[in-house]
Amino acid sequence: MSEHLLEVNHLKKYFKTGKGTVQAVDDVSFTLDAGKTLGLVGESGCGKSTTGRTVLRLLEPTDGQVIFEGKDIAKLSAREMRHMRKDMQMIFQDPFSSLNPRKTVEELIAEPLKWFKVHKTKAETKAHVAKLMETVGLAPRLANVYPHELDGGRRQRIGIARALALDPKLIVCDEPVSALDVSIQAQVLNLLKELQREYNIAYIFITHDLSVVNHFSDDIAVMYLGQIVEKAPAKELFTNPVHPYTKALLSAIPIPDPDAQVEQIPLKGEISSPINMARDCHFAARCPYATEACHASTPELVNRGNEHFVACHLF
Ligand code: SF4
Repeated sequence: MSEHLLEVNHLKKYFKTGKGTVQAVDDVSFTLDAGKTLGLVGESGCGKSTTGRTVLRLLEPTDGQVIFEGKDIAKLSAREMRHMRKDMQMIFQDPFSSLNPRKTVEELIAEPLKWFKVHKTKAETKAHVAKLMETVGLAPRLANVYPHELDGGRRQRIGIARALALDPKLIVCDEPVSALDVSIQAQVLNLLKELQREYNIAYIFITHDLSVVNHFSDDIAVMYLGQIVEKAPAKELFTNPVHPYTKALLSAIPIPDPDAQVEQIPLKGEISSPINMARDCHFAARCPYATEACHASTPELVNRGNEHFVACHLF
């Protein structure tokens, strides 16, 4: 039995389209322990959101395994999977579009409690919703207002309260602060961190912005075109990035750590099409160090020590 809360092994999610097969997630593996955060970082289209959704089995995997608390979730019956859903929740990027505009804050937060018939009486549900609102910092006076009457930060707090309602062990946070103002981003990140400490929740924190996950994540995995190209403890990744793509992402943000000696690599060009990809290094078209070998085979993700994994023919 796995000692990790979550173990993802060689996960693949392909989509068939008229133009060919989109290899959205292509052989992704990682582990996550209770109460820890894995930051999943990369540009739009790199497969990070599809990875999150496939881990939660909101999308059926094409291949590979997702082991949650020692159970292969692909082998669970619909009833068992429904039960497990309580433990595996999601917070979405755009709180406005993920909330029914015709429901009040109280009704929205009560929804998951009703779906899973957590309480026998309306009074119990109401009391539970009030507690959740307090937990996420929503004032009681907001119980009967509608999402459009609130700012983005408060709407995201509704999303967090809904995700928390069933006492999950894992939450996939899909760009949870990227639609928010910078000042509100910090408040929501602090709230997520406090909740993690209090309830020992594990997060998969998906973002295109490395600066957001720096102090938030225990480990960071950098994805490029469906694959993890570098994975390491957060401080190690920021102070000693190895993969040219990670260095390019880091080049784009100011790094406050004086120990960081980061080579500047500007990121040129657009991410390539994920359709019918060759068995090459998918970053080769944009990499200043690409050689013939990089166009001939996909580099494996190799542990260079200190749990620092890199997929690059240079290393
Ligand atoms: Fe660049 Fe080659 Fe490394 Fe890919 S394998 S990142 S193309 S050097």
